[in-house]
Amino acid sequence: MSNSSISPSILVIGTGGTIAGLRTDLGNGGYQAGQVPISTLLTQINSKFPLKNMQLSNIDSCDLSEPLLSELGVQVRMGLADPEVIGIVITHGTDTMEETATFLEFVCGGSARNFGKKVVLTGAMLPSDHPQADGPGNLSDAIEFAGKRDSQSGIWAVMGSKPILGLALVKGHSSQTNAFFGEALPNDWVQVSNDLPIPPDNQWPWVEIITSHVGARPETITFLKNHGVQGIVLAGTGASTVHESLAPALEQFMEAGGAVVRASRIGRGYIGGSLANGRLAKALSAGNLNPAKARIALQLALFASTQSSPNPLSWQDYFARMVGLPEFR
Ligand code: ASP
Repeated sequence: MSNSSISPSILVIGTGGTIAGLRTDLGNGGYQAGQVPISTLLTQINSKFPLKNMQLSNIDSCDLSEPLLSELGVQVRMGLADPEVIGIVITHGTDTMEETATFLEFVCGGSARNFGKKVVLTGAMLPSDHPQADGPGNLSDAIEFAGKRDSQSGIWAVMGSKPILGLALVKGHSSQTNAFFGEALPNDWVQVSNDLPIPPDNQWPWVEIITSHVGARPETITFLKNHGVQGIVLAGTGASTVHESLAPALEQFMEAGGAVVRASRIGRGYIGGSLANGRLAKALSAGNLNPAKARIALQLALFASTQSSPNPLSWQDYFARMVGLPEFR
């Protein structure tokens, strides 16, 4: 870590993304994400708070790995516990920012609230050397928000001038600069106060997403089951309905001990209860989480259920708590 200032300060962790991208072809909008170091990006920012920076990675977030998430979780926890850090900003690619926000909410959200600090993700839709680059504005807004002493501690993102609660964060457009919005969380959603354990690098449970669609075929599910997948998130149609050809294979997977949760490929809206046609009655619904976020939540729930604890909970207990399902106990 390079410590460029006196305490107390905001810790800015660089992970890459378009915010650190450079154009490769000035003609057609081509660029490469994750090229510019965070220390350089910060030279464009006029912050009233002293800043420390740490380069954790410099990647396109489409390549984000589970071990890197674990490392980020560890660094964020250390930053939250450090009395010299008043808030944390993470520069991140926009493609998987919502997965990282979900991960951080469940492994660091409780600590952030207990310490009264904010962890704020930000990024950009245009590379750093674009004439209309949105990165400097977003980074500066994120730093400003992270340093504000108010009651809004927790995991956040700041994109397009808006603070958005981390768990609600959704990338809703593939190219517009104003691509992010906050999906409403249910009124009775309770933030889990105890942070879940961070899976060590090689202990992330294997969870895949299967989409239901016209003409869906079950072979992929059988293949995954035979190769040891531990969980499947269904990206169902509509309110997480599932094709009749997929349901029996998913049922067999659950009977063999596999974990299944139902989300929707629409990616918006609350998925609750069970299906009127009785399919996948033993699967849990994913509440407001879209398939990518539900996948992270299921991995963390599966991992937490394997850790020894005085009151052992099943993955279903953890998952129901995380997404605020009525099954919560
Ligand atoms: N592919 C880029 C990334 O996620 C997109 C972006 O940052 O906007 O790193």
